[in-house]
Amino acid sequence: MIDWSDEDVMIRDAVRSWVEEKVRPHMDALDAGDLPPYDLIRDLFRTFGMDEMARSSFRKRLEREERAAANGAAGDDGSEPDLASEVSGGGGNASLSILPIVELCKVSPGLVTAMGVSLGLAAGTVMKRGSAEQKRRWGLDLLTMDKVGAWAITEPNSGSDAFGGMQATARRDGDEYVINGSKTFITNGPYADTIVFYCKLDDGRDPRDREILTFVLDRGMPGLEQSKPLRKMGLHSSPTGELFLNDVRAGADRLLTGGGTGAQSGKESARQNFVTERAGVAAMALGVIEECLRLSVDYARKRELWGKPIGDFQLIQLKLAKMEVARLNVQNLVFRHVEMQRKGRTPTLAEASAMKLYAAQAAAEVTQEAVQLFGGNGYMSEYRVEQLARDAKSFQIYAGTDEIQVTHIARDLLSR
Ligand SMILES: Cc1cc2nc3c(=O)[nH]c(=O)nc-3n(C[C@H](O)[C@H](O)[C@H](O)COP(=O)(O)OP(=O)(O)OC[C@H]3O[C@@H](n4cnc5c(N)ncnc54)[C@H](O)[C@@H]3O)c2cc1C
Repeated sequence: MIDWSDEDVMIRDAVRSWVEEKVRPHMDALDAGDLPPYDLIRDLFRTFGMDEMARSSFRKRLEREERAAANGAAGDDGSEPDLASEVSGGGGNASLSILPIVELCKVSPGLVTAMGVSLGLAAGTVMKRGSAEQKRRWGLDLLTMDKVGAWAITEPNSGSDAFGGMQATARRDGDEYVINGSKTFITNGPYADTIVFYCKLDDGRDPRDREILTFVLDRGMPGLEQSKPLRKMGLHSSPTGELFLNDVRAGADRLLTGGGTGAQSGKESARQNFVTERAGVAAMALGVIEECLRLSVDYARKRELWGKPIGDFQLIQLKLAKMEVARLNVQNLVFRHVEMQRKGRTPTLAEASAMKLYAAQAAAEVTQEAVQLFGGNGYMSEYRVEQLARDAKSFQIYAGTDEIQVTHIARDLLSR
């Protein structure tokens, strides 16, 4: 694959028009954190029939699984739920699901983050690990964006060492579990209707050896508090918050056990999500880089100093050239990922982490260089590159920091 197909371009242009009409007019409110992104995401879903696609693919998937269960075979084909394919309602043409991510990230990486966490991580986990009943109870509403999902692992004392340092606990009490603990930096935390919550079974064993349990919680459960959005550097269109759990009682019907139980099960499911999430960040980075390059070329042509456009200066040309190199490299990673999806191949952890590490750094560098190229205007909100610079920094932190990607790439390579 060396370029998007004609059909892809038609979809891309349609999404681009929708972004111009529906998102761009609200950029200031989104970037101030004054407008939660969910109604816009729902509008996107309705406009492009993604909600109907999600319903139909959900029905087919459940029927397939039920048939397989009746025949005594595994209904799940084992493939990982992917942010991009969850966006497009599952399956189908991978490029058609990635293109909306690229286009939306040109104006609002936060909107894509909010959508990606709800679909790819919250819905993805329920659909991967839930029973048929749990999928019906929570999965469909998440997949259509009728409900907003959060995926909660990180705690004040455990980020990169998410499982080792995890302190949230679930204690068995009769038929129920009693959950205590707190989570932080949770995307959609303030507004989530449905929360996929990771904690450790409090069974008296050494905390590092305890089983990781995954519960699905609903907004409004007694003892569950969702904070207001945290103030942060950028990505304001993606509300990020804290969760506080004080003796929240959850029945076993809220426990996701698909993929088995035991010390590794919850960890393994979360790790599978890492692969999905990291590949998605490359598509997000591509959108940011393409937009910065477009804005920078335009500015380099128009801005005149010493009687000529700044595009005539070699140091400015170097910035544009480096942005183009980054664009090509990240685009190639995304195209490779599209091809892999078409062939039904899931990237290894090393591949997904390498994609994310490179793409996140490229987006962060390109956005900083774009701010520099715009001079004082680059530092002003009106020219938008400063928002993209603040937003793109998050790519190097969430879904595993750059440093953690390095360790995962090396560990995966060395373990072969
Ligand atoms: C905008 C945003 C949205 C987020 N959304 C979610 C969400 O929806 N759900 C969720 O669960 N979490 C979420 N997170 C949390 C995110 O995953 C963590 O912030 C991230 O994993 C880093 O953890 P930490 O912040 O605790 O940093 P720490 O783990 O404290 O790391 C501090 C520094 O140490 C470095 N470091 C850590 N370990 C090593 C090592 N072994 N070798 C070298 N360096 C190391 C890190 O790279 C970093 O530079 C979000 C974060 C942000 C910023």
